[in-house]
Amino acid sequence: MNRAPGCIFCQIASKEKPARLLYEDNDCIVFEDINPKAPVHVLVVPRKHIPTLNDGTQEDEALLGRLLRIAARAAREKGLSGFRTVINTNAEAGQTIFHLHVHVMGGRTMRWPPG
Ligand code: AMP
Ligand code: ZN
Repeated sequence: MNRAPGCIFCQIASKEKPARLLYEDNDCIVFEDINPKAPVHVLVVPRKHIPTLNDGTQEDEALLGRLLRIAARAAREKGLSGFRTVINTNAEAGQTIFHLHVHVMGGRTMRWPPG
């Protein structure tokens, strides 16, 4: 598996660093965001170290689709019928961890457009 030394999400995926894990399989992990921005805020993370959405290749297509299906399932398991999914790409969009992840947020009214 493609890993990056010092990457916190690679370290969570390999259990070197703790997280409140909700789900894992061979391809991805789901855990609670450490600084939640909504009553429900979980992260869906591929085990493969893909820095940003810009770095996904054709070989990642199935994985990228799987992240969204797992995001919907994580929301359902949290009891959410409506929820917000977000992928921040690069610093100007608010990305702070450069290992691709899908935010799943809900449990409050979500405003549109986001800031
Ligand atoms: P982003 O700003 O889109 O890159 O999102 C990174 C997210 O990761 C933020 O919502 C952080 O609160 C969250 N985060 C950072 N470190 C950890 C950690 N160790 N465990 C869980 N979530 C984290
Ligand atoms: Zn990583």
